[in-house]
Amino acid sequence: MIDRTEMVVDLLKKLVSIDSVNPCLSPRHRGEGEIADFVAERLRSIGADVRKQKVVDDRNNVIGVIRGNERGRKLLIVAHLDTVGVDSMIIPPFQPVIAGNRLYGRGSADNKGGMAAAIEALRSLSLDCNFRGDVIFAGTVDEEYEAKGVEKLVQEIEADAAIVIEPVGLNVMVAHKGFAWQEFRVMGRAAHGSDFVNGIDAIFETQKLLAELIKMNDKLMKHLHPLLGPASLHASQIHGGEGWSTYPAECVLTVERRTLPGETKLKVEKEFLDITDRLLEEGIHVETKMHFFRIATEISPNEMIVQSLLKAASEAGINCSVSGMSAWPEAGVLNLSGIPSVVFGPSGCKGHESDEYVELDSITKCSEVLEKAIRIFLS
Ligand SMILES: [Zn+2]
Repeated sequence: MIDRTEMVVDLLKKLVSIDSVNPCLSPRHRGEGEIADFVAERLRSIGADVRKQKVVDDRNNVIGVIRGNERGRKLLIVAHLDTVGVDSMIIPPFQPVIAGNRLYGRGSADNKGGMAAAIEALRSLSLDCNFRGDVIFAGTVDEEYEAKGVEKLVQEIEADAAIVIEPVGLNVMVAHKGFAWQEFRVMGRAAHGSDFVNGIDAIFETQKLLAELIKMNDKLMKHLHPLLGPASLHASQIHGGEGWSTYPAECVLTVERRTLPGETKLKVEKEFLDITDRLLEEGIHVETKMHFFRIATEISPNEMIVQSLLKAASEAGINCSVSGMSAWPEAGVLNLSGIPSVVFGPSGCKGHESDEYVELDSITKCSEVLEKAIRIFLS
C-alpha cells in the first residue's frame, strides 16, 4: 500500500515548485496556465473525466469528475490554483524546503497543501469508486484577486454541496464575513493660506466625518455573531491638500467595512449615506460611493456536508470545531448560487506570509478526512 503522507508531500512539492502567482497581482508572472495543465494531467492519471473551463484570456479553471459505482449526489471540491505575489518573501518561493513538520514555499498553505490533500483523497477514492454519485474537483483561477474563476464555475456546475479548500486549521467553517469598500470625498474651498474668510479646509472637515465613522464602528462592535464576532470598520487611505499655503479643496478618505451575514449592500450603503446626510445638515459636503461589495454568508451546521465532515474528522481522531472565518472565501459565491458550502483545509500559515509554510501532518490528516467525508456524503 502506498503511504498517504509520501504521496501528498510529493505532490505538494511539485505544486509549490510551479509558479502560479496571480497575474493581476504581479503582471511579470505567467499566471495559472502551467499549474492548470499539471493538475489536469494528474486528474487524468487517476481516471477523472477532465476538462478546462475558460474564464478570462488564457486563464482556465480545471474540472475533473470521478464517478462512483452507482448514481447519486454530486459533491464539489474547490481549490484555487493561484497564489499571491512573492516580492516580500524571505525564503525561496518556488523551491519547497522541508524542515521538521513544515514545508515552506509560496502557496504551501494557501492553497497547495490543501489542494494536494484533496487530489490524493480523489486518487484513493478512484481505486475502488465505492460511492454513489460524482466527486467534482475544480481548480479555480483568480481567487486572490477578483475570484473570477469561481464566478464562472457556478455558471456551469451543479452540485448538492461543496467543500472549499483553504488553510483553516482542520476546522469546518460554516460562516464568513463580507466586505465593502467605500470612498468619501470631503469638499472644501481652495484659497490662499492667509484667506481664512474664503478658505474651507477639507482636511479639517474630514475630522467630523472620521468622528462619525468611529461612532459607527463603536456601534458595530456591540453586536456579536456567535461564530464571527462583530462587524467592523477601518480607515484605509487618506489623501488631501496641495501645499503649505493653500486651503485644501478636497480630502478623499477610503474605508473598509467588514460585514456579517444578513447585511446587504443596500443596508451598508444606506448607513454611509445617513452619515453624509447628517454632515450636510451641518454644512459639510461629502460625496460617497461604494466601489466593491462582497456579501457575508453562512449555512446551518445541520447541513449534511457539515455533518459529513464532522463525522469524518471524528473517525480520523481529529478534534475539529464548527467555526466562522473573517476572510471572504469562494464559498460566498457558491452559497449565493444555491450550493451549500463549507471551508476546510490544513494548518500552517494563514497564507500570504513572507515565510509561508504548511504543517505536513495536517495535510495528511486533511486528505484522510476529505476522503472519509466524501464517502459519507456520497453513501
Ligand atoms: Zn486561499
